[in-house]
Amino acid sequence: MWLRPDAITVWRHPEVRKRLAWYRAVMLNEKPAKFMICKRVGVDENPEALEEASEDELWSLHDKLAVEFRRVWQRIKEGSLSLKELEAPRTSFLHIKIKLAERLLRSCRFCVRRCGVNRAEGQVGFCGLGREARVSTWFHHFGEEAPLLGGGGHPVGGSGTIFFTSCNLRCVFCVAPNSKVILDTWVIKPISKVQVNDKVLSVSFPEQAKRQLKLASVKVVKKFTREAEVFHVRTDKADIILTAEHPILDYRRRWLAIDPSRSPVKATRMREGMVVRFTIEPENFTEDEDYMRGYLAGALRGDVTMTFFTVKHGLKCYKYPYFKFAVKDLDFLTAVHSYLARFGIKLPIKKIHFGDGIREGLISTKRDIFERIEGLVEPMKSLSWYRGFLAGFFDAEGGFSGRSLRIINTDSDLLETACRGLEALGISYAYERYEGCADAVRIGRAEDIAKFFMRTHPKVKRKLRGLLGRALLSTAVIEDIEPLGEMTVYNLETSNNIFICNGFITHNCQNYDISFHPGNGVVVDARKLAAIEAELRREGAANINFVGGEPTPNLHIILASMEHLDLNVPMLWNSNMLCSPETMKLLVDVIDIWLPDFKFGNNECAERLTAGGVDYVGTVLANHKLAVEHGDMIIRHLVMPNHVDCCTKPVLAMIARELGADRVLVNIMGQYRPEHWVARWPEKWPDIARRPSAREMREALEHARQLGLVFEPVS
Ligand code: SF4
Repeated sequence: MWLRPDAITVWRHPEVRKRLAWYRAVMLNEKPAKFMICKRVGVDENPEALEEASEDELWSLHDKLAVEFRRVWQRIKEGSLSLKELEAPRTSFLHIKIKLAERLLRSCRFCVRRCGVNRAEGQVGFCGLGREARVSTWFHHFGEEAPLLGGGGHPVGGSGTIFFTSCNLRCVFCVAPNSKVILDTWVIKPISKVQVNDKVLSVSFPEQAKRQLKLASVKVVKKFTREAEVFHVRTDKADIILTAEHPILDYRRRWLAIDPSRSPVKATRMREGMVVRFTIEPENFTEDEDYMRGYLAGALRGDVTMTFFTVKHGLKCYKYPYFKFAVKDLDFLTAVHSYLARFGIKLPIKKIHFGDGIREGLISTKRDIFERIEGLVEPMKSLSWYRGFLAGFFDAEGGFSGRSLRIINTDSDLLETACRGLEALGISYAYERYEGCADAVRIGRAEDIAKFFMRTHPKVKRKLRGLLGRALLSTAVIEDIEPLGEMTVYNLETSNNIFICNGFITHNCQNYDISFHPGNGVVVDARKLAAIEAELRREGAANINFVGGEPTPNLHIILASMEHLDLNVPMLWNSNMLCSPETMKLLVDVIDIWLPDFKFGNNECAERLTAGGVDYVGTVLANHKLAVEHGDMIIRHLVMPNHVDCCTKPVLAMIARELGADRVLVNIMGQYRPEHWVARWPEKWPDIARRPSAREMREALEHARQLGLVFEPVS
């Protein structure tokens, strides 16, 4: 085990002993951790009775018990009470906290973003996390502040650090909201509108390296959104706006990312001139009135009985119109039924005798309906009408034979109309004439079939699958990569971790580490997390250090783990402190020592240099105040170049004034260096494109000294 001598010497500092007295007492097992006390405060009620309680009732019980807890804690601190003297209640204060965390999860309010999504049901919010907590790694950390490593009477066992994977810092990589995703029905949706369970086009990788990638249909499992810096990647075929870590596939099947060090897959740095895989440029159109008329024309003229039948009444003959449309594909019937209804022709769907069986369909013998349908299927010449006509005609008479798409019909006028439509849409085809049987229009190339589906939107899903399993891959050359600034971005997690976006093949994989490198990350439930905590403590950890990413989205599992943990150990919250007030109320009675970041001295800098969207200073300061009232604290402040006056000095002043220069320890950190895209495009963030200078560090430390802050032992 590596020894850091300052872990021993730091405890000789009287201010460290005084300001971290509670933490040290728990570390040395002289006092019970607060979560242990929480288990001995409670009510004599069956825990199951709480299931019916409303959230308000639970909060009211919580707040009542919080008063009792603080009375007990105070007495334990003073030494007038020990844990052994307290009976374990049937329902503990900790149990009520766990129940409240579960309620908050149902409409997530763990952090100030207050997404309101039901994470208990698997929905995900800004952080990208659902119900599960994911731990990427845990170990004895010897790089933390000296008092957190042990010492002072405890072995220097390091800080028992548990890293929660948290997408907003680790593995989200996203594209702009209007990026086009192709559904497996060949309809285009902006990524912002794609829903969980939608089926989207993707590619599958064949086992043999030399075989081509195949078009596949995959399900969207999760969807994420956040604010992030984005880059505009221009190619000779199409453009895409993505984050620096978002990988796209090149022609040699390598993943390329603007910043490969942050990519969740092994990636090569993306540069101008590189050749990437390109499938097909997504195109969309509106299914307007002309489209619907065209669809009805193609569908009904291709697949309907419209005739007259004669009935004799005495010497007179009467002609009655007869309309019958019966098909085996329900999606085809639904499309015709709904388009007719859009033109005011509302026919019920009935069981109809057809050939040798019964099918569902539409039937009418009313003259006015017959005449209106006849009027509707009259040919038109607009592009939209041709799109609809080709879709309806394909649904009625088309299909795949071998690898080609064919529309077969005996009516050469209809086939001629189809040819005019294909020419108007720029789709290559061949007209096939056969002696003694119906002619056909054939589309052979996979790219043309894809264009046909995307530019016409046939409705019969069974037929649309004909292109899956085919290779649909050309290439594009990257011409330019330009930083664009910050915007809301989206990411999808699909069942094979790949989706096609703006025609490019992109890797999504929110949980790549967990899916593909199980050693790097595991899903943990409360028992498993408690086992990790116990293992770290038994091996000599001075504390349990919850960190991420960000631990806050994992609050429910962290609290529940404490119920399963029987070892005494100080609990440490290592956080950005953007927790909601509710989360803080739940945490203040279980956390023994806080290790929060306080980075920005004003909201303008916070907005510009982070994901933004929250009142940074207001939230972080309020949470620091609450935390310091209820536990020991080492605040971390990172000095950034050119931000001494606007951030460092105001932050240090707030700490001294609002939290008490005599109460907290401050770690003033000088290790900032430009990384990732700041390093690559320094002209975009010139203020932070260098390390802080020696003069700036001196100024920061001098200011802290003038304010009476204690920083030397932990900086
Ligand atoms: S933890 Fe925060 S970001 Fe995540 S879903 Fe809850 S409120 Fe949203």
